[in-house]
Formats: sequence, structure tokens, C-alpha cells
Amino acid sequence: MAFCKKCGSPLDESAGFCNNCGTPVKASTWDGTVLDTFVNSLIASLIITFTCGIAAPWAICYMMKFIIGHFVVDGKRLRFEGNGAQLFGNWIKWFLLMVVTCGIYSFWVAPRLYQWVASHTHSEG
Ligand SMILES: [Zn+2]
Repeated sequence: MAFCKKCGSPLDESAGFCNNCGTPVKASTWDGTVLDTFVNSLIASLIITFTCGIAAPWAICYMMKFIIGHFVVDGKRLRFEGNGAQLFGNWIKWFLLMVVTCGIYSFWVAPRLYQWVASHTHSEG
């Protein structure tokens, strides 16, 4: 038996809301803290700075793991399973495409990156 996080009354799991106070049973939230966010952003920035950007795919994956791992959507936690080595191949490909298109391909890089991140994101349970 689960209990309401807000008022503590027993919950009917099949119901979307607590019968007593109306709090959603399967809430969506992001549960990272300010300190975690600061520390992880700092580490990612340092990784990029000290490798002159070469390790950017690893820094991006590090941040995505942190950001996505704190998303809870409809009661299910998300997890990001991509890693820098997988992204590095795409990174090189996107870089070369930007070079041969004189930078025009840069408009495609962010959407391609988001698609890649989404394809490596899963929900638990
Ligand atoms: Zn309640």
C-alpha cells in the first residue's frame, strides 16, 4: 500500500489523485538540487576547458545523465544511457559536415544532438 506524499493517507494506485487532498499519485517533477546542479555544471565546464573541447561529448553525456536522471515523469524516473564514446563518432561526423558546408550544418547539430539524447533516454518501471 502506498501513501500520499503530501497528507499521508492510503492511496488507491489505480486512481490518478489522492482521494483526501487531490495530490497527483504519479507526479512529474525534477528532483535535483541547486548544489548538485552547480557542481555538475562546473565539472562539465572544466572537462571541456581542460581538453580544449575534445571531450565535449563526454561532458554533454555527464550533464545529460545528471539532468535526465532527476526527471520523474508520471511517477517514472528517466535515465540516460548514452556515453561519450558513442557520441564522439557523431561529434566528428557533425564537425566534418559543418566544415564542408561552411558552417551551414550547424543548424542541424542541436536537433541531431537532441534526437541522439532522446534515443538513449528510457523510463524505469
Ligand atoms: Zn493526499
